[in-house]
Amino acid sequence: MKQMQLQNYIAGQWVAGTGTQTELTDAITGELIATTSSGGLDFGAMLKYGRETGGPPLRKMTFPERGRMLKALAMYLMERKEEFYQVSYRTGATKADSWVDIEGGIGNVFANASLRRALGNMPFYVDGEAIRTSKNGSFIGHHIMVPKEGVAVHINAFNFPIWGMLEKCAVNWMAGVPAVVKPATVTSYLTEAMVKAIIESKILPEGALQLIVGSAGDLLDHVESQDVVTFTGSASTGRKLKVHPRIIAESVPFNMEADSLNSIVLAPDAVPGTPEFDLFVKEVGREMTLKCGQRCTGVRRIMVPERLVEDVQQAISKRLAGTVIGDPRAEGVRMGSLVGMAQREEVRANLNELLKGSELVYGDPKSVEVTGADAKKGAFMGPILLRNDKPWKNLQSHEVEAFGPVSTLMPYKDLDDAIALSKLGKGSLVATIATNDEQAAQQFVWGAASHHGRMLVLNRDMAKENTGHGSPLATLVHGGPGRAGGGEEMGGKRGVMHYLQRTAIQGSPSMITALTQQYQQGARYHITEKHPFRLHYEELHIGDTLITEKHLVTLQNIEDFAELSGDKFYAHMDANSLEGTVFTGRVAHGYFILSRAAGLFVDPPKGPVLLNYGIEECRFLKPVYPGSTIQVKFTCREKLDQEKRPKTEDSPKGADVARGIVKWLVDVVDETGETVALATILTMVRKLDQN
Ligand code: NAP
Repeated sequence: MKQMQLQNYIAGQWVAGTGTQTELTDAITGELIATTSSGGLDFGAMLKYGRETGGPPLRKMTFPERGRMLKALAMYLMERKEEFYQVSYRTGATKADSWVDIEGGIGNVFANASLRRALGNMPFYVDGEAIRTSKNGSFIGHHIMVPKEGVAVHINAFNFPIWGMLEKCAVNWMAGVPAVVKPATVTSYLTEAMVKAIIESKILPEGALQLIVGSAGDLLDHVESQDVVTFTGSASTGRKLKVHPRIIAESVPFNMEADSLNSIVLAPDAVPGTPEFDLFVKEVGREMTLKCGQRCTGVRRIMVPERLVEDVQQAISKRLAGTVIGDPRAEGVRMGSLVGMAQREEVRANLNELLKGSELVYGDPKSVEVTGADAKKGAFMGPILLRNDKPWKNLQSHEVEAFGPVSTLMPYKDLDDAIALSKLGKGSLVATIATNDEQAAQQFVWGAASHHGRMLVLNRDMAKENTGHGSPLATLVHGGPGRAGGGEEMGGKRGVMHYLQRTAIQGSPSMITALTQQYQQGARYHITEKHPFRLHYEELHIGDTLITEKHLVTLQNIEDFAELSGDKFYAHMDANSLEGTVFTGRVAHGYFILSRAAGLFVDPPKGPVLLNYGIEECRFLKPVYPGSTIQVKFTCREKLDQEKRPKTEDSPKGADVARGIVKWLVDVVDETGETVALATILTMVRKLDQN
């Protein structure tokens, strides 16, 4: 039978690498799956193709367009997920492990697709608010963030061949940047299977994704200043790549996610018999066995109060004893294998290092009983619990990562000691504390956060919905200081920023309005012939303005508003109580000013405005006293396109109307022309084109 050879995807072609082939084997059976090589590839041409072919169409798309592209991709991959599960079993992963990799990865694409509602309507992002840099306001500053014109080069670890690719690519595609993915060779057959599906789908523009299955060769010799390199893997490789001369010479951003000696702490209140004790034991058991312990976030150090070490050791051992190990496809199996024999050798070597400072209290590194498989052929290893009674003397536990089902139990004296021990890891991705004591949680989190990228407080209140110590979420940052690599990825919008260039822009308010496509205070405006509420979404332009009628504020207004709202705060009601305050008389309610402003700018009859969506910012800047006259300058500040919901079984006609969100700047001035209240309100506005 002809041997299967994996293929690289480069410049729109599937290409088999030449020269020496690496053999990739089934982690469970040891059978040869495929061979692979990246020999003969022109990595310089590959990066150039990404920059020149993949970059331009992605950059041209707006955030909503990129988001819709990602959503379509995620839906497509979800439909094909079964094929990936079948391949994933061959990496030694159980169904639950594969779920994290496959559906967790696709979920990440969905989550990034949803960011389309948070990043604006343009191909670039407008960051924060305008900054006034002159006395009279004719010269202001702002920040825009535009897509980098390079390629995102992702060098990934072997443990999550799909999640590792998708969690990174979803972000760079959202930013408008193409990717070159280089998965770890040993499990690259799974990444290749998914890339084939992605390319077949034709959902991404050509050049948005290229794949290297094999060694990275001289890839980094070709990176340029507009590229971004991300690395996930061992600290030793990461450090080597981080100081690559080309990375330094071209100032290429390099994001590193490396090994991490993550800890879990049992707080003093979580004694046996409490829900927190049980949750702690369950979490440790899960962390040690999920993905056979090959998780960068896995618990490596288990810290418990001195007096509870025995109890915890017994409870964890009992839990681990119930783990059925074997072929992930066999009935009842809860834990699969490591990804290959070479990885098992590495785990054993690191375990020997750890044993120099710890004793083995559960498990057998040399033999394991398996179900539905041949223990000799697969890369199996049962869970191993170590115990280090002198964690300040035997430092191996804080320095050596055995990237498998291996964790070390250690005592601490008090919470300050636990904090200091957690910091001996010199920077970790995540730490968990099991406690129902808010003060203990404060002490630990405030004391140890400097050394951690994420912290989880485990207790009875969140237990049912807990996503787990080991699971990074697309909406939260993932990464950690020091040993963990010093990088940061994901985190919703924050992740996208890594692929955008932030540029400060300076000019007049009108010029900054033109550049940001957001109306800036003081910019030129245009008084529309019709009331803006009579204009459809497409007919509205940034800067379209209504100057309203005026309203004389009276004491009766204050009395009436107080009665209606029930707000009888002394400053509105009692002229004798104002000594020592900023007020010189009974002041109108800020909410009255805003409500009366609405009365001035709203056009009542039914029209294109479908509803009032809310208020984004609101400031009351100057007290308004009876006798003052207010007037509103009401300006179209920003427009955000919205999607029409597709027809569903529940609403076959598509109950939705085509519409967009319009943000309005409500500038309320008094008779002196000074602003007394400033707010941004949001309305939903119907489109002319309902198709
Ligand atoms: P690794 O040996 O450092 O390899 C990581 C990646 O780097 C692989 O794609 C590898 O390719 C590539 N690589 C190796 N040498 C290279 C070189 N000279 N130039 C360019 N690329 C090179 O790590 P691993 O054994 O695959 O992964 C396990 C480690 O990753 C563990 O320590 C784990 O803690 C860490 N990890 C961290 C995270 C995180 O998010 N922080 C996530 C997962 C894993 P080849 O496979 O072709 O050698």
